[in-house]
Amino acid sequence: MKIQDQQIKIPQEDGRIFVDMPDGDGHVCASCGACCNHFRVSFYAGEVAGSFTDHALAVPSDKIIMITPVYAAMKGTNQKEARCISFKGTVGQSSHCSIYSQRSSTCREFYVYDEAGQPNPACQTARAAHQLMPLPTLPVAKKQTAEA
Ligand code: SF4
Ligand code: SF4
Repeated sequence: MKIQDQQIKIPQEDGRIFVDMPDGDGHVCASCGACCNHFRVSFYAGEVAGSFTDHALAVPSDKIIMITPVYAAMKGTNQKEARCISFKGTVGQSSHCSIYSQRSSTCREFYVYDEAGQPNPACQTARAAHQLMPLPTLPVAKKQTAEA
């Protein structure tokens, strides 16, 4: 299992790193979904449709609740036993985000592995809460030592 098979990092102009899952079901998230069913998923309300300039990517307004005048959260996540309204599947078996192309920056920034091949500690927390095995550390693709 290689990091690049698990996630695709997409640097943003503002310095943030967004993460997309590769196509197909070969990545760990496809059979996990723990994070979508553990954390409160909150984000700046300006990302919600109706207040964001790029409506094609905005979070659908019917999927959120306002938790402060400026912050929204995905419905279902602002409660004990969180379950995002947009999650489809069964945690630990199959996982799918029904608004993937419109998910919030909070979801987009949630990575699985860091550059050293270490799993995101938040993944481990969410997975443990759902009695899933911890993610393994992955070997880093040869330390960019190639000098050719
Ligand atoms: S907890 Fe980590 S591995 Fe599981 S779906 Fe979320 S990002 Fe993927
Ligand atoms: S919007 Fe999608 S990626 Fe974000 S928490 Fe919900 S199901 Fe998961």
